[in-house]
Amino acid sequence: MKTKSKGKLFVMSGPSGTGKGTICERLKELDNIYLSVSNTTRDRRANEIEGETYFYVTRDEFERMIRENEMLEYAEYSGNYYGTNKKRVEEALNEGKDVILEIEPQGALQVKSIFPSAVLIFVLPPSFEELRNRLVTRGREPIDVIEKRIAAAEWEIQQSDKYDYKTINDNLDECVNEVAGIINKERERI
Ligand code: 5GP
Repeated sequence: MKTKSKGKLFVMSGPSGTGKGTICERLKELDNIYLSVSNTTRDRRANEIEGETYFYVTRDEFERMIRENEMLEYAEYSGNYYGTNKKRVEEALNEGKDVILEIEPQGALQVKSIFPSAVLIFVLPPSFEELRNRLVTRGREPIDVIEKRIAAAEWEIQQSDKYDYKTINDNLDECVNEVAGIINKERERI
């Protein structure tokens, strides 16, 4: 009997405001994909859904999960913890699903060291100016938070050289097609 092969792990990063969340939502339309839901200590935004956007936990609970080795990876970003639950990802991979993690570069590089076969994809904004415009016009965060995110973006973009693929989100449909193409190409590799 042929045993079901394990799924592949894909990691998507990119500075806040590059549109990687929207890209990942669109990638859910591909067959056999599990988009991982992270844990975070940041506050839930009005349009977000517990268990779909994130699992919202306290710092105490997050630190307990770190201590008890429940995290595949985690990082602090803009004063909050974000992390991926190990068990949920392993279960999806064992079921043969391809898993997408939408996480920042500290976590992405932790994942690459644990799973060297993970495919790392970095989404770049067309320019720094455009990134600032997108963050300001979407109006999700107050200006001090936006400034923190822009400061983080500089370091994040420097990390993009460590990724397997880079793509520029200038046109959403084209970018989604490009990333879907990367996923399909990687799926065909043994
Ligand atoms: P946001 O607050 O905008 O939802 O996310 C802030 C940043 O945290 C984004 O770059 C997002 O990709 C990243 N992030 C979300 N979940 C995780 C996670 O589980 N681990 C890590 N390392 N980063 C995450």
